[in-house]
Amino acid sequence: MSISSEIISLYERSGSCNYFGERVSMTEHALQSAYFARETQARPALILAALLHDIGHLLEAVPADLADWTHDSRHEEVGARWLEARFGTEVAEPVRLHVPAKRYLCATNPSYLARLSPASIRTLELQGGPMSAVEVARFAAEPYAADAVLLREWDDQGKVVGLSTPPLAAYQELIETRALHAR
Ligand code: FE
Repeated sequence: MSISSEIISLYERSGSCNYFGERVSMTEHALQSAYFARETQARPALILAALLHDIGHLLEAVPADLADWTHDSRHEEVGARWLEARFGTEVAEPVRLHVPAKRYLCATNPSYLARLSPASIRTLELQGGPMSAVEVARFAAEPYAADAVLLREWDDQGKVVGLSTPPLAAYQELIETRALHAR
């Protein structure tokens, strides 16, 4: 099976579930995040990272109801490992850092916290709350910190009920050309 068919079938299998505590599905959320990345003329690796940033949720079963969560599932680590093997660091690293990026923005940008959705505020607690000063410095030194912050903004934007976006199939070529085996 090609990598793009594998990804499309993952979304077909479990992407129709609601994106935790939001009113859009996992697939809609992925497509909207990629849509906002494209709107800002992000480079292809980052558009792909935006599209696939929550793939960790689809790779492992998590409770459908956010209220069942007693700890964070670390979906960003699961997703990043999967993406690293298939697309390399430029796609995987922003994904690995997209949850820390939220904790970073909460600590460094007061208006950011005010913009978070109620579900995102709930998961923030599970994720460790805003970063400490030491964590902020460590995060900022990561080579992909700026990309992760951009990805985080698209992630937060991608929760619009009824927004029409290009379908998954529109990303088939991007997926295949970015796959490591294609190089
Ligand atoms: Fe997300």
